[in-house]
Amino acid sequence: METTLILLKPDTIERSLIGQVITRLENKWLKISWLKMMKLDDTIINKHYDFLMNKPFFPILKSYMQRTPVVAIAVTWKEAIKTVRNLTWATNPFEALPGSIRWDFGLTIDGNIIHASDSLENAQKELKRFFEWKDIFEYSKITDDVL
Ligand code: UDP
Ligand code: MG
Repeated sequence: METTLILLKPDTIERSLIGQVITRLENKWLKISWLKMMKLDDTIINKHYDFLMNKPFFPILKSYMQRTPVVAIAVTWKEAIKTVRNLTWATNPFEALPGSIRWDFGLTIDGNIIHASDSLENAQKELKRFFEWKDIFEYSKITDDVL
């Protein structure tokens, strides 16, 4: 089992898409193990996107990510990281696969609906940034039997 971090970004909240995006996760049987709405302060956003700090679009990305609260979700499943990245697909919604979350809902490269950790190493770092391990819920779902 792996746990990965998802952020539903401000355009998801503004466009009333929270339920539709979470449905995509549930359709794939991913287990929601923690979920919280939160406003991202400067410290957390600077850390989360530190590798983009020197890009010309960083100020736009930062103000976009702080426009509304985000919904932070930890999901647990077999190969959760790859599964969520496949559901999410390319950074630019116009380069994403039809049927993926970003293709179906994303409008621009910054307004691309969802963040998903891209590796086990980054998932572990990012999860710690948004919640404490003691907060994670462990429970059974009927669909666990398919694993
Ligand atoms: N981003 C952007 N312009 C770019 C590249 C990235 O606004 O040219 C934003 C976009 O919101 C993206 C985020 O920065 O989701 C993080 O970039 P990354 O390369 O990690 O893409 P992701 O992993 O989200 O597909
Ligand atoms: Mg990334």
